[in-house]
Amino acid sequence: MPSIFTKIVNREIPAHIVAETTEFLAFLDINPLAAGHTLVIPKKEVDYLFDLDDETYTGLCIFAKIVAKGIEKVIQCERIGVTVIGLEVPHAHIHLIPINGVNDMNFSKPKLKMGQEELAAIATSIREALK
Ligand code: 5GP
Repeated sequence: MPSIFTKIVNREIPAHIVAETTEFLAFLDINPLAAGHTLVIPKKEVDYLFDLDDETYTGLCIFAKIVAKGIEKVIQCERIGVTVIGLEVPHAHIHLIPINGVNDMNFSKPKLKMGQEELAAIATSIREALK
C-alpha cells in the first residue's frame, strides 16, 4: 500500500506544497510545531532515510537546503532546525522547522492549530520566495 506521502506526491490527497522537482517534494506538515514547518521527501518511496541510494540522499539534502532558504525569507526565526524522526510515516522525510531556541524542536510539545487558509497563505509565500 502506498504511503500517505506517496498519495500526496500523486495528488490523491491534498497538501500545501511549497516546492517540487522531478525527484523531490516539499509540503507543510499537517501538524506543525511552528508556522512554516515543512517536510521534504524523495518521491521515490523508501521508508528509512539511510536506506536511500547516495544520489537520492544527497539530492534530498540539497533540495532541503534550497527549501530552507525560502522558509527563512518568509518566517521570522533564528534559523531553520533540521530533524529526522520517521517513526510515524514510513516514507523518508526531513523536517525543516523555523526555530528560535532548542525547545522549538521538541516534538512532544502540543502542535499548532492552524487553519487551511493560513497554511495555504504560508505555502504560497514560501513558493514565491523560492522563485
Ligand atoms: P515522523 O514520521 O517524522 O515521526 O512524523 C511524520 C510527520 O508527518 C508528522 O510531523 C506529521 O504531522 C506529518 N504528517 C502525517 N500525516 C500527514 C499528512 O497526511 N499530511 C501532511 N502534510 N503531514 C502529515
